[in-house]
Amino acid sequence: MGSQEVSTVDWQGKHVTVAGLGVSGIPAARALHERGAIVTVVNDGDDERARAQAAELEALGITVRLGDGATLPPSTELVVTAPGWQPDKPLFLAAAEAGVDIWGDVELAWRLRGDNGRKAAPWLAVTGTNGKTTTVRMLASILEAAGLRTAAVGNIGVSLLDAVLGEQEYDVLAVELSSYQLHWAPSLRAHSAAVLNLAPDHLDWHGSMEAYAADKGRVYEGNTVACVYNAADPATEELVREADVEEGCRAIGFTLGTPGPSQLGVVDGILVDRAFVANRQKQAQELAEVSDVNPPAPHNIANALAAAALARAFGVEPAAVRDGLRAFRPDAHRIEHVADIGEVAYVDDSKATNTHATEASLAAYDSIVWIAGGLAKGATFDELVTGAAKRLRGVVLMGADRALIREALTRHAPEVPVVDLDRTDTGAMSEAVEHAARLARPGDTVLLAPACASMDMFTNYNKRGEAFADAVRAHAEKSA
Ligand code: ADP
Repeated sequence: MGSQEVSTVDWQGKHVTVAGLGVSGIPAARALHERGAIVTVVNDGDDERARAQAAELEALGITVRLGDGATLPPSTELVVTAPGWQPDKPLFLAAAEAGVDIWGDVELAWRLRGDNGRKAAPWLAVTGTNGKTTTVRMLASILEAAGLRTAAVGNIGVSLLDAVLGEQEYDVLAVELSSYQLHWAPSLRAHSAAVLNLAPDHLDWHGSMEAYAADKGRVYEGNTVACVYNAADPATEELVREADVEEGCRAIGFTLGTPGPSQLGVVDGILVDRAFVANRQKQAQELAEVSDVNPPAPHNIANALAAAALARAFGVEPAAVRDGLRAFRPDAHRIEHVADIGEVAYVDDSKATNTHATEASLAAYDSIVWIAGGLAKGATFDELVTGAAKRLRGVVLMGADRALIREALTRHAPEVPVVDLDRTDTGAMSEAVEHAARLARPGDTVLLAPACASMDMFTNYNKRGEAFADAVRAHAEKSA
C-alpha cells in the first residue's frame, strides 16, 4: 500500500478488545465504539481510578473488564493494545494462537487517519534510543517556519489518534515513535523517517538487542522519499539497508564531520546539506550555523541535522531550517541549567534514563560531580564509567540498582570518591544535592544524569528533575 492511500476497515459489528485503560486505551475504545465496533476493554488494574474510567466507558455501551488483562474474550477479532504492554503477555499469546491481529495505538491511528473525511497528512517519523523528543520538536519548529500546518505528536504526550481524528487539518505531522509503538505498528508507512542512534535500552521488554533493533528498523519500512541514518552509528545504516522501501527512496546520512554526497554535516561551524541539492557531487547548501542550535552540544547538533534532513526531504527551503532551529527551545530536564552556587553549576538531565544519554551529557562537561542511580533496566555501566572516569570529581548514588554503578566505579575509577546514599525514598534527592555540593570545587558541574529510569523513587523523570531543582534551590538558600 502506498503511503498516501488510506485503508478503510468496516468496523460495524467487529469485536475489538482494547488492552489497557489509560492515555491510549480510552480514546481508542471511544473511537472504535463510535465507528460501530463492539468494544471490550480489559485492564489488569482494578483501583478507584480504573473504576471511574470504566464507568464512563460503560455509560457509552462499552464493556470493561477490570482486574484481568490476561484472558482474551472469546469473540475477539482484533486486539488494540497500549504500547507498553509486554509482548509475551498471555493475552497476546492467546491472540496469536487464535490468528487475531494485534495493533498498537500507532497502527490504529495510521489505519484511521483520513476516515473522518479530512486530509490524511503524511508522517515524518523519528525514532532512536535518545534524542527523539528534541528532534521531533526541532522538526516541527522547522516545518512551522516553512509555513506548514503541523504538530509534534506521538510518544511525546500528544496522542496520534487525537491528531489524526481531531478538527485540525495538517499538511504534515512530526511523529515521535518509541520502539514499543513500532513493535505494534506493522502497516505504518512514513513519508520519510530517521533512526537517530541505537544503544541497548528496554532490553527487558524486547528480549534482545536484535529484537529491539528490528522494532526500531520498522520505521523505515515503505518510506517514500528518505531514510535518514546516523553516519556515526553503523547499526542505523544497516537498518536502512534491510528495509523494504518505495522505489526512489534515498538513504540520507547525517554526520558531525564534513558530509559526503547524500549526507548532511558540518563544515567550519555551518550545518550544510549535500543531499537535497541539484548536484550533490559538487554542491553543498548552507542551512544554518552551529550557534543557531540550542544548546549547541555535539549530540544536539546531530539531532538538528536529523530534523533538517527530514524537513529537506519534505521540500522545506534552507532559510526555514535556520529560522526553525533558531525558534526552538529545549524541553525541561534535558541538560537544563538550574543554578550557579558558589561557582558550581547545577544541571538537571533527569531525562538521561539510560547509559547512552548519560554518556552524551557527561561528555559535555570537564569536571563533574555526578548524581546517578535508579532502575537500570538490564543495563551495564562499565563502558560509561570508563569513558567518564577522568572527568569525575565525585559520585553520589541512590536508587534501587545503585550497586551496579558502584561496582563499575570500583572496577574502573577506584580513586573517585563515591557517596552511596543507601536509600530509595523521594527525600534522598536533597541529601544527594548536599553531598554533591560538598564534593564540588569551583568550576565544577553537579550533574543529575541518572543513567537509569526513575520509577523506583519517583512517578517519572519530570518529578525526579523537579526534586533535584527544589533541592538545589533549598541548598542555594542555605548557602546565601
Ligand atoms: P528521547 O525522546 O529519545 O528520550 P530526548 O530528546 O528527550 O530523547 O533526550 C533524552 C536524553 O538523551 C537527554 O538526557 C539528552 O541529554 C540525551 N540526548 C539527546 N539527544 C541525544 C543524542 N543524539 N545522543 C545521545 N544522547 C542524546
